[in-house]
Amino acid sequence: MVETPQHSGLVAPLDYLDPGAAMPGQLLRVPLGRREVLGIVWPRPEMAGDATADDALRPAGTPFELPPLPAAWLALVAFAAGYYQRGLGELALSVLPPELRKLDGPAVAKRQARLLKRLARDASSAAGAAAEVERPALSDEQQQALAALAELRVQPRPTPMLLHGVTGSGKTEVYLRAAEAALAEGRQALVLVPEINLTPQLEARFATRFPQRRLVAMHSGLTPAQRLSHWLMALLGQADIVLGTRLAVFAPLPRLGLIVIDEEHDPSYKQQEGARYSARDLAVYRAHLEGVPVILGSATPSLETWRHATQGRYRNVPLAQRIGGGALPRVRLFDMGVLPKPMETAAGGAPPPVVLAPMVLASLRERQERGEQSLVFLNRRGYAPVLHCADCGWKSGCPHCSAWRVFHKGERTLRCHHCGFTERVPRACPECGNLDIAPLGRGTEKLEEQLAEALPGARIARLDADTARGKGQLESRLAEVHAGEVDVLVGTQMVTKGHDFRRITLVVAVSPDSALFASDFRAPERLFALLMQAAGRAGRDAEAAARSEMWVQTWHPQHPLYAALKKHDFAAFAESQLDERRSAGLPPFSHLALLRAEARDAAVATAFLHAAAAETGGLAPDGEVTVYPPIPSTMSRIAGVERVQMLLESSSRMRLQRLLSDWLPRLHALRSAHKGLARWAVDVDPLAI
Ligand code: ADP
Ligand code: ZN
Ligand code: ZN
Repeated sequence: MVETPQHSGLVAPLDYLDPGAAMPGQLLRVPLGRREVLGIVWPRPEMAGDATADDALRPAGTPFELPPLPAAWLALVAFAAGYYQRGLGELALSVLPPELRKLDGPAVAKRQARLLKRLARDASSAAGAAAEVERPALSDEQQQALAALAELRVQPRPTPMLLHGVTGSGKTEVYLRAAEAALAEGRQALVLVPEINLTPQLEARFATRFPQRRLVAMHSGLTPAQRLSHWLMALLGQADIVLGTRLAVFAPLPRLGLIVIDEEHDPSYKQQEGARYSARDLAVYRAHLEGVPVILGSATPSLETWRHATQGRYRNVPLAQRIGGGALPRVRLFDMGVLPKPMETAAGGAPPPVVLAPMVLASLRERQERGEQSLVFLNRRGYAPVLHCADCGWKSGCPHCSAWRVFHKGERTLRCHHCGFTERVPRACPECGNLDIAPLGRGTEKLEEQLAEALPGARIARLDADTARGKGQLESRLAEVHAGEVDVLVGTQMVTKGHDFRRITLVVAVSPDSALFASDFRAPERLFALLMQAAGRAGRDAEAAARSEMWVQTWHPQHPLYAALKKHDFAAFAESQLDERRSAGLPPFSHLALLRAEARDAAVATAFLHAAAAETGGLAPDGEVTVYPPIPSTMSRIAGVERVQMLLESSSRMRLQRLLSDWLPRLHALRSAHKGLARWAVDVDPLAI
């Protein structure tokens, strides 16, 4: 199995002459054209009908002196390639550490020897340092969760477990105990987190709990050398715990005994380019394949997972109480409709920015006076989403994308958040020369400024992709918050995730409404999860929980989403969403795939999709799979490339899969007839349509 690009249409393994007893899963170098590339020995299918005669084959190199990739790993990769409609070699090689591709057998052997030597040295210096590790006594609910897990682990194919725990209910402690049980059996544990930013703190908790065990991280922030050595430790069975982001689902683990998927609902688990796999779904599949328990943890499970749990396909284990008995913060809605309406001037001048509501400001001041912390959350970074000229109507559009360029006041730039195109802020309107161009709307940078004006003396810190860009900036900001050096933390959704802030007693969501009416059918589900998660940042300290609150500024206080939020009632929210999805025929009641096409000229992409649609004729009996007409993607242009998509929908996952695998070879053949097509790709189970 070698890496051949998807567009070559070459998706099956290639045959080489075996240099002698190569075993499935072994790595080796093989000739491909004039190059020599990394390959994986793949098990030959039982009925390889037209196997090439041996004397026509080119010889493969000697397999590396590494343990072969486990059979379950090969099976997982084969499944993923089939399900997500990618070339087997492309997918298999893309999930190996990139560094491996550059190395030959002897070079890998050298790395391995060096690694083992270092591990032996570390082990001898750490010997005898076994201190007693403190473990808290489990709550009743945690005990029940672990009892359920103990039942599941003895099943040959354990039922996946949904750990539905409100924030602060002690889910992580359950993961730790579950890992402890797996490690005690001599097995390895795989722990997945949605975002790289969340790995350090979870890593720290696991490292503290298991000082005698080897823990490795796997994410895109590692150096190529680190990634290779961590991968080797996993494969060699030297790592006991692998903790990482979605790519870690492919970690080779010969003794896998447990999979944990933290924040299982998080969209980051879905890869958004290349093989667009869902690491969450693959992790569940992998657990099934290897017969090990899998825990899906979340306060707001995805509707797919929730439906499995309510139907009994997953074991539903609730953690309804916060540790220490603290209450969840009281959610209060501020109806923006009661504020005086901003006046539109006749000239169409910018309306004055909608300020923080007086009651919300009063709550913020109260916290400041009591020496407690507040978190103010706005999912839009920059100073203002667009600059505007009131005279001629010019707006700061991006010349390359269907998007506005965002005004960043601190750095005096207009920056496109999609293609990165950046220019200095013009002094005057580029169209008419008017000197009076003004920001429209508000981002976190402006919110920070407004808060500083409204709360004199308050120490305000901002946390978003702009302020956390430099190395260590995120960590140092978080450390300031933990040390109590910050009164108000302002930020994007980055601040809502996972952090165990102890002194926050107030959370404010400034303007979350837009998601209520977004065209993406998953937007309300996301918003609910985000707001619940944000609410969960307050009152984590049981003593302060009683006076913790969350303010939501909204123009739609009657919306059912907010009603469910007020009661912290996930089940009610999920039921209402599922009803809507059922009547609209949307997932999880149907299965979707998108064919995306990109070209400089939208007509080229659209023509390709029309031709592709014609090719589905005869592939599925009428009505089994619905093929919708091509439409522009939500972001119809990025970096000068037009993006068009076509939706396929079926009530049967299997029928959709069958159509896709018959269809894909036809699409490869179709491509050459569509000159100017930049890219095309299939997205199975797309997150957004
Ligand atoms: P979650 O992951 O559900 O948000 P955590 O696992 O972070 O919750 O737990 C919240 C806090 O409670 C953490 O500080 C954790 O150390 C503590 N904790 C968890 N379980 C217990 C327990 N059984 N006894 C005492 N403290 C606990
Ligand atoms: Zn102008
Ligand atoms: Zn752009």
